[in-house]
Amino acid sequence: MTKLTNHPSTADMQASDARHHLHPFTDNPVINARGARVITRAEGVYVYDSEGNRMLDGMAGLWCCNIGYGRTELAEVAYRQMQELPFYNTFFMTSHPPVIALAEKLAELMPGDLNRVFFSSGGSDANDTNIRLVRHYWASQGKPEKSIIISRWNGYHGSTMGGGSLGGMKGIHAQGGLPIPDIVHIDQPYWYAEGGDMTPEEFGLARARLLEETIDRVGEDRVAAFIAEPVQGAGGVIIPPDTYWPEIQRICDERNILLIADEVITAFGRTGNWFGSDTYNIRPDIMTIAKGLSSGYQPIGGSVVSEKVCEVLDAGGEFAHGYTYSGHPVAAAVALENLRIMQEEKIVDTVRDDTQHYMAKKWATLADHPLVGEARIKGMMGAIELTPDASARAPFAADAGTVGYICREHCFANGLVMRHVYDRMIISPPLVISHGEIDELVEKAWMCLDLTLKDVKAQGLMVAGQR
Ligand SMILES: *Cc1c(COP(=O)(O)O)cnc(C)c1O
Repeated sequence: MTKLTNHPSTADMQASDARHHLHPFTDNPVINARGARVITRAEGVYVYDSEGNRMLDGMAGLWCCNIGYGRTELAEVAYRQMQELPFYNTFFMTSHPPVIALAEKLAELMPGDLNRVFFSSGGSDANDTNIRLVRHYWASQGKPEKSIIISRWNGYHGSTMGGGSLGGMKGIHAQGGLPIPDIVHIDQPYWYAEGGDMTPEEFGLARARLLEETIDRVGEDRVAAFIAEPVQGAGGVIIPPDTYWPEIQRICDERNILLIADEVITAFGRTGNWFGSDTYNIRPDIMTIAKGLSSGYQPIGGSVVSEKVCEVLDAGGEFAHGYTYSGHPVAAAVALENLRIMQEEKIVDTVRDDTQHYMAKKWATLADHPLVGEARIKGMMGAIELTPDASARAPFAADAGTVGYICREHCFANGLVMRHVYDRMIISPPLVISHGEIDELVEKAWMCLDLTLKDVKAQGLMVAGQR
């Protein structure tokens, strides 16, 4: 692809960025001192920075660019839609063709009777919608006290007041008066770090039963819903033991509460099926979607709601809620085109039948590296646990994240975008990644682990600490 625009020098852009841009989830003085990495273009699974460095994007942007970069069909659809109808709202009894077509397409793809979509611009606001929606659902049946939503420590559901409250990230809770009332957190099914001497199967059951115990403790007549990601993403690709979701589903079936699957990452092929709910046989009442819905080409998300819930909502009068950009026509048109490409090019089928197996085989080889305690993967989302002592699944004595950060920096410097969550390295590459590109990803990861190990030894960090 040819360069579309000339840009100022990297130094000038970094200086301007430091003066005027407040970054999300960033220590601004730190980034300003060293200068932001400026990404200027992308193609396929590769991104390029302003210095011309090419990097294999092991994170698909932020878990979203499932069809890969540079699909001109999406650009053309956006261009045509902007000429025809760049904006109209969906409030007050109006609609428009792109949002109608997208909602119908989603209903066709979704499991079960998840047939109606409330649109947002992303995942956080969709989860805010979910909080209001499930509370309104119970209130309109004369049960306003059924307002508690149970979620999990180290889950991620966004960073708005509602999304950040549902999430279980202590760093987010520490700022701005979170969590909001009536959110209760339970422990996560993170066997590697928290499973102790239990087998993964025993541990999965034990963690699922925390839901039942919590419902008993606060009272079923107080609980509106349970929300969880099928596989935790931002928390560090926490893949639950196989016993976890069947037990959660049993509890939700037996108790009178709603189940919300936050599939902002896992939907649209990430786990090797169209939805994480397919992979784990989950039957949610509401599903949160965003990210892969448009492969990140436009900001769009939503709450997909079951017929059962909609019937009650419909009877409850007007839902006093909506976003100016709910079902934005350009975003909806682009999402629809993204889904068309995914279906016609059989992108999910290819992951399910071919590339996820190749990836799993290659990824597993990283477990042989002396710095790695576990290499796990589900579909196209994976993690490796860095450790000074693999047999003990030990953490480092150094502050959590010290070693992960060193590794991340080596990855960036060597043409691989791999994120770190404390001392776990994680990947979530575009679903269109080829065998050759998977080889490149794993070779680079190994090389960067070598470089990290060298640094870690030189700095005396190869020391085990306590959980
Ligand atoms: C990214 C993410 C969100 C938040 O989505 P935004 O579009 O950033 O608001 C919510 N839930 C999950 C599971 C996510 O991964």
